[in-house]
Amino acid sequence: MKRNAFALLLLLATSASAAQLTRTEQKIVAAVDARLAADLSLLERSVNIRSATENLAGVRAVGDLFAAELREIGLKTTWIDMPPEMKRAGHLFAETGGTKGKRILLIGHLDTVLEGQPFVREGNSARGNGGEDMKGGDVIIIAALRALKDAGALDDRRIIVALTGDEEDTGQPLDVARRALIDAAKRSDLALAFEESVGDTATVARRGFTSWRLDVTATTAHSSGIFTESSGSGAVFELARIVNTFYEKLRGEENLTFNPSVVVGGTEITYDSAAKRGTAFGKTNVIAAKATAEGDLRFLTNEQRERTKSAMRAIVAASLPRASATITFTDEYPAMGPTAGNYALLKSLDQASRDLGYGEVPALQPSKRGAGDVSFVAPLLDSLDGLGSRGDGAHTSEERMDLESLPMLIKRTALLLYRLTR
Ligand SMILES: [Zn+2]
Repeated sequence: MKRNAFALLLLLATSASAAQLTRTEQKIVAAVDARLAADLSLLERSVNIRSATENLAGVRAVGDLFAAELREIGLKTTWIDMPPEMKRAGHLFAETGGTKGKRILLIGHLDTVLEGQPFVREGNSARGNGGEDMKGGDVIIIAALRALKDAGALDDRRIIVALTGDEEDTGQPLDVARRALIDAAKRSDLALAFEESVGDTATVARRGFTSWRLDVTATTAHSSGIFTESSGSGAVFELARIVNTFYEKLRGEENLTFNPSVVVGGTEITYDSAAKRGTAFGKTNVIAAKATAEGDLRFLTNEQRERTKSAMRAIVAASLPRASATITFTDEYPAMGPTAGNYALLKSLDQASRDLGYGEVPALQPSKRGAGDVSFVAPLLDSLDGLGSRGDGAHTSEERMDLESLPMLIKRTALLLYRLTR
């Protein structure tokens, strides 16, 4: 008797949202609920494998753990090694190999910034390095795919899972490190990335970054002759002119920032770009002959990046007398711009969330999020990020995952995947 009354209550409690869902969608939701304990166990096991980016065996072990799960769901898995000199573990790719529906790329990563803090459950949350960022997101991918399979909704669909092994400290050169990811994007229609959720939002845009190096040379002479026609103003004034003009003319544009992070100048200088370290020598009575600076540039669209590069080059070219300078740019991460296609994906997620009886999903303000793996594919296809687990303290020893929201996040993803692949 008591049991029946409880069942009735449960039915009443879920009927409001269930009305928005088809029979198959209700089966998907039930399949998520049925697997929650197993998903939590998978999360715990993955967090307890130490997998900082430089721990190649650890990253591979997390890959093996997730690969076994993905194979069980019916995906074909491949491990992509990186060249040994890159000192990166490689990436796990998995593919359904179907023929129907939109082709979807799901992105996560296996590596973590820190390692050593094991999974410790504390009420509705859990401590543990790499739980929130982002083994929680990886488990959401796997759990959502499994729910689709259990509900008979994964058959003949086209899904690629890409779990990179070096997101937190990407191997160089980037075109080798991200070739497989970009190739997968070329065979897909849209990308969903599972970096941690920020509150109730999802991410339609991430700023990209480019690094720059400024090298100045100038005539050297006795300091008493500075500012004369024959001696000029020296390399240090020229470098100061350039970075100050960047500050005066380019600062303040929305979503654009740039920061000179290191400066070396004098009669003799050394600068090691890899180590980000340099030395300088210069007597007070000598005009500086050389100066070097490095810094970054962060932007919301690749158009903004190119426009800013042109403006910086023009400033650099307007040299002081007896000085000259060059600036070189290295594009690291492209921008994930806030495109209409990305907003359309957000709308689908928002609808899935509401139909499940959860709240609306607004867009995260773009400047709140730096570059990520999705940035490499966003120029090629519609993309949405921030679909992973909730928590706080990512990249610190205080990292904590919110476990209460996990079922909601898995259901939301499963429903979104189901609808996108019909
Ligand atoms: Zn991450």
